[in-house]
Amino acid sequence: MNNWLLILMLLANMSQCSENGSAPNTSDAAMAAHEHFDEIVNSDIDTSWTEKVVKSKAEWKKILTADQYYITREQGTERPFSSPLNDNHDKGVFICLSCKNPLFSSETKFNSGTGWPSFYAPFYSRSLQVSMDNSQGMVRDEISCARCDAHLGHVFNDGPKPTGLRYCMDGVALQFVKNAVIQTNSKALFAAGCFWCLEAVFENIKGVKSVVSGYAGGTEKNPTYEQVGSGITGHAEAVEVVYDPSQVSFKDLVRVFFAAQDPTQVNGQGPDHGTQYRTIAFYRNSEEKKIIEDYIASIKSQYSKPIAAQVVPIATFWLAEDYHQDYVKHHPENPYVQHESIPRMNRAFAAVKDLLKKGM
Ligand SMILES: [Zn+2]
Repeated sequence: MNNWLLILMLLANMSQCSENGSAPNTSDAAMAAHEHFDEIVNSDIDTSWTEKVVKSKAEWKKILTADQYYITREQGTERPFSSPLNDNHDKGVFICLSCKNPLFSSETKFNSGTGWPSFYAPFYSRSLQVSMDNSQGMVRDEISCARCDAHLGHVFNDGPKPTGLRYCMDGVALQFVKNAVIQTNSKALFAAGCFWCLEAVFENIKGVKSVVSGYAGGTEKNPTYEQVGSGITGHAEAVEVVYDPSQVSFKDLVRVFFAAQDPTQVNGQGPDHGTQYRTIAFYRNSEEKKIIEDYIASIKSQYSKPIAAQVVPIATFWLAEDYHQDYVKHHPENPYVQHESIPRMNRAFAAVKDLLKKGM
């Protein structure tokens, strides 16, 4: 191939990472990006619920034993030392018998001597709800399941450290899932030029579960690629990274992010120009903000120009059209992928060798 032809081909294909596509970006697709946050290893446990479980008395009576119904639906109390769970010292998770919502980890169980299973902290923020109980001539804080309103017991202020609380539970209302493993993943959001390339880089980092391409940083709801490409939406091409924080830290991801770009280029990366290609590190809290700012401070002396990357609070992420997902993997022959994405990936990989998945 003569050089002129090659140059013409490159000019035609390298001005931006664009391809015409007609797949609509639906809000369902945008929501799909948020579905795989908590990975449930045990199917008996449901941490991903979004709606409460509401049933009539007759419906609860059908699925519960008389004892279970009396305790959970009529605010009953079981006899002390009657539940086998009182003496259960196995590792696992105590879930709501009625709806599978995780309530307590075995890690927070302690021997209160009362004869009722006792814990000092709930499993997570969506486990329990507290209400006032004035029955039996006492003022007590009643504990019920936040998902199905099942009565579970009461909470008192005489528990052990670190909370000082004693959740005194009716074992009848609980179900024990031995050796349950619930792994909570975290999410990070980055923008740095063409998302095809950035997605491919993060997909090869250890501890990264999934990466999807989309749009963030602007105001337009449910934007299309064409709208973002016009520059009027304020959005930038971005990738959402779901990762296991026990394997890779947010700081590591920030390092990958900066290795995958020229952080001094303003409103663009390589041959792609426009605010839709600007570089943004999004943070979820002050801790992540500090990690990003500290990292920028540590690398800025390596560059002759100022760091152009924006550091901003997390924004709504809109999933891009299907044909943009895994683009580098599906189109390795594309001239832009050949001449821009792959060299950029390789530069990033060389800088973060210690963070790559095995076999990379
Ligand atoms: Zn429940």
